Amino acid sequence: MMPAGRTFGGAHRGAPLAAGDEDDAGWMRQALLLAQRAREAGEVPVGAVLVRDGAVLGEGWNCPIARSDPSAHAEVMALRAAASRAGNYRLPGATLYVTLEPCVMCAGAILHARLARVVFGALDPKGGAAGSVFTVLGTERLNHRVEVQGGCLGEACAEVLQLFFQSRRNAARPSG
Ligand SMILES: [Zn+2]
Repeated sequence: MMPAGRTFGGAHRGAPLAAGDEDDAGWMRQALLLAQRAREAGEVPVGAVLVRDGAVLGEGWNCPIARSDPSAHAEVMALRAAASRAGNYRLPGATLYVTLEPCVMCAGAILHARLARVVFGALDPKGGAAGSVFTVLGTERLNHRVEVQGGCLGEACAEVLQLFFQSRRNAARPSG
């Protein structure tokens, strides 16, 4: 279960409501639509959209099974698309919206891309690297710091994952 709405450690806890929150929710809804594409393909439903100056730079959804690629997480797919489009592996000033708290690998890629901001939905208490298990994003020990905000449409993002795992458990259960 994803404990939606739970606060987490670090400097980004309890961010006050700001003028950009409606924009954030709008982009997160787009990330949720991308998560559905993963779900339709039988992948864990996580979606990501990378935005700069109010425009989409790249989109991605979780697809490691389809691609036989352990690095094909939604965030990495969105970063690859955006970097390719921008012709630059660094994407300063960009914001990544992702439905689930990034893992260690994605947090590393986010830092390498020099993103300005990460907004995520559900917490990942089993592997989150934005405070849940590790604090790779938001640490002051690294050169580049990215602003992190969790819990944007957190309940909706968690529900998509809960329903997916629930249906997978049901399918695995022997009938009768
Ligand atoms: Zn990841």
